[in-house]
Amino acid sequence: MTTRKPTRAKAKPTPEPTPEAEARVCGCGCGVAVSPRASFRPGHDARHAGATGRALAANPKDAAALAALAGMSEALRAKAERVRANAEAKAQRAKAEAESAA
Ligand SMILES: [Zn+2]
Repeated sequence: MTTRKPTRAKAKPTPEPTPEAEARVCGCGCGVAVSPRASFRPGHDARHAGATGRALAANPKDAAALAALAGMSEALRAKAERVRANAEAKAQRAKAEAESAA
């Protein structure tokens, strides 16, 4: 009786890590690495939305913030817009108070 090794149908493809996946970092700009399928560290998406909203309140033409907004999910964009509206309202109140005090 001859022992035969089972012929391997195909060599197992070695999953090659893509450089992009390896270099993936949190989208909020904190620089922390995240898993290839994640865009943010837990909680950092909210931080990112807040920072983007405040940046747009300060400067509606902020290119980086506008680009960030465009890349957001619908829910995150809505959050950023709320933060922006709040920040703008706050700035207007502060301005009105400053004017009435003068
Ligand atoms: Zn982060």
